[in-house]
Amino acid sequence: MVYAKTDLPFLRRDLHQHAEPGFCEIRTASILEEKLETLPVTILKGEEIQDRSAIVNYPSDAELNHWYDLAVTGGIEEPRARYFRDHGTAMIVVMKGNRPGPTWGLRADIDALRLEEPTDHSHLPARLGFNSRTGAMHACGHDAHMSIAVGLLESLATTGCDFAGTLKVVFQPAEEGVRGADTILRTGATDDVTTMLGLHVDGPSPIGEVTASTVGGMAVNGFLVEFQGKTSHASMAPEQGRNALLAAAAASLGIMALPRFGTADTRLNVGVLHAGDAVNIVPAHATMEAEARATDDDVLEDLVSRVEQVLDGTASAYGVSVKRSIMGHAVTVRPDADLVDAIAAVAAATQGVTEVKRTAPMGASDDASLFIRNTQKHGGQGAFIMVGANSPAPHHNNYFDVDEQAIAIGEGVLERLIRG
Ligand SMILES: [Zn+2]
Ligand SMILES: [Zn+2]
Repeated sequence: MVYAKTDLPFLRRDLHQHAEPGFCEIRTASILEEKLETLPVTILKGEEIQDRSAIVNYPSDAELNHWYDLAVTGGIEEPRARYFRDHGTAMIVVMKGNRPGPTWGLRADIDALRLEEPTDHSHLPARLGFNSRTGAMHACGHDAHMSIAVGLLESLATTGCDFAGTLKVVFQPAEEGVRGADTILRTGATDDVTTMLGLHVDGPSPIGEVTASTVGGMAVNGFLVEFQGKTSHASMAPEQGRNALLAAAAASLGIMALPRFGTADTRLNVGVLHAGDAVNIVPAHATMEAEARATDDDVLEDLVSRVEQVLDGTASAYGVSVKRSIMGHAVTVRPDADLVDAIAAVAAATQGVTEVKRTAPMGASDDASLFIRNTQKHGGQGAFIMVGANSPAPHHNNYFDVDEQAIAIGEGVLERLIRG
């Protein structure tokens, strides 16, 4: 059977124009499902593949309804949009090849950043009229990742699924803030994957450059911390209060004063601190958001336990209670050499590829690393491919833009690899 092939740059522009932030990707998931359900695939979604119970700061009902309304008024069928609003926006698309073989996993992230997209004509999407007006923007290229994944599934389908094994494409919400992968991993939905791939466009690199896998990167843990004390009159009975503001302030200094490590590169940041109600009340509540990063997973674990010691110690010193939750987590990427060689070989033979790098260091964090690590723990292998995208601005800058030639190149490399 011949399946209609999507115009991938057109799809990318549509997804770009209707960008949605993490866990709110209701229209995005709906569009993907509408497209992919005509293919010979099984689509998994909802609680079966996503456990949202442990998410910190999940969007409110009002926020989800805002994105749901936008999707429905924009033409998405109401039951479809309602499903993704009520059951989460993760989706796994499973395609069986025409003969036995490995289980491939491909992570495609679907969220955008909360950024206003420029409207001036020096920015190509604005010049061509597909700039986002939603208040969110695909400034990391996830619109291209989804298009590549759709193109891959369609190409395999039109040739009778002529490949060995099974392909599971994981459309993952909320990569930004490294929050979404964990919600899928908790269900075990990717535990059977034997080769796990991530693919990210590499904004600063030229079109034609492909790196078979990034190496390293920063393992990261984000924290949401809440200090709870006791209010009292600041003049008549300050001694009866328990000052959560002071505990949080002291904890911030304590965290930033933790030692650097001689064995790895580390980072610490207290990025948000809110406390207090009024000038004449001893503040009883404080909220902190902080993060720790390291180029080594064991060092990160050590650093996280030291942050926790500081939090517990300062809370105890000020007589307040402290509650902490993990808000975002990623590990380093350690690709498997055999797989890297295989990707480098197919990349060199892919149309449009002019330069192949075996590996390159990764400066940021991405929770594709959690999928890769999970597969490796189960005895499989993994890699995180980078595809040059010739962006005029860096990732997460609102002038970021993907040269759409990167879509065909990314799709080409993956298709060759999976076809074997
Ligand atoms: Zn990003
Ligand atoms: Zn990204």
